[in-house]
Formats: sequence, structure tokens, C-alpha cells
Amino acid sequence: METLLDIRALHVGYGAIKVLHDVSLSIGKGEIVALIGANGAGKSTLLMSIFNDPKLVSGDILFKGQSICHLPTHQIARLGIAQSPEGRRIFSAMTVEENLMMGALHQKSNIQDDLAMAFARFPRLLERRNQHAGTLSGGEQQMLAIARALVSRPQLLLLDEPSLGLAPIMTRQIFNILGDIASSGTTIFLVEQNAHQALKLAHRAYVLSSGRIILSGSGDELLKNKQVRAAY
Ligand code: ATP
Repeated sequence: METLLDIRALHVGYGAIKVLHDVSLSIGKGEIVALIGANGAGKSTLLMSIFNDPKLVSGDILFKGQSICHLPTHQIARLGIAQSPEGRRIFSAMTVEENLMMGALHQKSNIQDDLAMAFARFPRLLERRNQHAGTLSGGEQQMLAIARALVSRPQLLLLDEPSLGLAPIMTRQIFNILGDIASSGTTIFLVEQNAHQALKLAHRAYVLSSGRIILSGSGDELLKNKQVRAAY
């Protein structure tokens, strides 16, 4: 399988605080890879460091064989990586459609085609295309955050805790859609505290504890792992 993202011996911190220690992982084209771990383990830091914020102390990140760790964010986005950050960060005062158009800004393709693709994936958003994003339910806001990342037609989609604050039924619905997105060719790197749902969906996963990878394996293997079951 072709490696899409290759993270090598990453050390990352905020000033004097070191958060990630010698983290290495890889994501193959077409895979869904999950990163699970407790609060404060460094999951979001790892995801954000792919966009070079915070900057690496040492190590390297390669996307399709090219080092991206010294590139500015917009260039990394142009290469084909998009993220849906923790807490969604949608623009509340803008409509659903305006939010989606913000996600398509870098695109050379026809914006109407990009919107149609996002609405086909999330019909609920089509019904609410003229509604202010701040008035959407939590689950709908999460859909919007994912859809906004999708309109740039990324090869790699980074998702930070898409289940945060959602009822189980909405989490299942969103995870089903993530499965569909992956089946149609988009690679997914998913950070989750909801280990059970994430491991059910993921082909492979890594467990992060206090900034170090302590376990990795297929989703099924880790679902059955006693240490994982006890901790998460
Ligand atoms: P959670 O599941 O609670 O979101 P996480 O695994 O995503 O946790 P991070 O948010 O990456 O963990 O945080 C890892 C550590 O880095 C924490 O101790 C946190 O306090 C620290 N940290 C995160 N952001 C900053 C920052 N901007 N400045 C200083 N320390 C930070």
C-alpha cells in the first residue's frame, strides 16, 4: 500500500513544555487510521503539528514522500490535506452555504460542483443551506465542519474528535458517513476519545499516552486488547 503520510520521530512542545516524544506513525492511501488516548495525551497537538502549528522541535512529516514540516499552512492545504478541528470552529454568523464556500476557497474547480458533492454527502445540510450555522444542532455543526473540510476535495482528511458532545445515535450516523467518505477514496486520520466507535471504524489505530505511542494494531486487535479495554 502506498504511504500517504509518514510521521517520523516527532518531538513537539509548547515552549519549555514537551508534549510529543519520538512519535512515528504512517497512514496508507485509502486507510482510516485512528489515534486514541486520554485527555491531554497530545492527540490534538499531533494533528495540529501536521499543519506546522505548533512547530516541530525535531522529526519530519512527509506527505506523498515530500517533507511538509517547513511549509506554510496554505501550501500544506493545497497539497491535499484538510482538517476539521476540535470544537468545529464554524462561522456562526454565516449560513451553512457560506461556511462551505470558505472551505472551497483554495479550489480551482467549480464551486457549485464542490457544494453539490458536500450536500450529496450531508443531505441534512442541503435542507439548511440558508440557515445561520450558529443555529444548527451540535450534530449538524459537526457535519458542517466535516463538509467544509471535504469541499476542498482533500486526499487526506484530518478529524479531531468528531463525536465530541454528540448523542450516540448522531455519533453512529457521522461515523457511517466517514466510512462512506473513505470508501470513495479519501484517506482519514481520526483523533478520538470515543475509542470504541473509532476502533470499530478504523482499519488501523495507534494509542497515544503521555505523548508517546504505546500500542498500535488493526482496529479489531485493539478493540480486543485488554489494556485498551481497561483504559478507554
Ligand atoms: P483532549 O482529548 O483533552 O483534547 P489531547 O490528547 O488532544 O487532549 P492536547 O490538546 O494535544 O491533548 O494537549 C496535550 C498537552 O499539551 C496538554 O498538557 C496541554 O495542556 C498542552 N497544550 C496544548 N496546547 C497548548 C498550548 N497552546 N500551550 C501550552 N500547552 C499546551
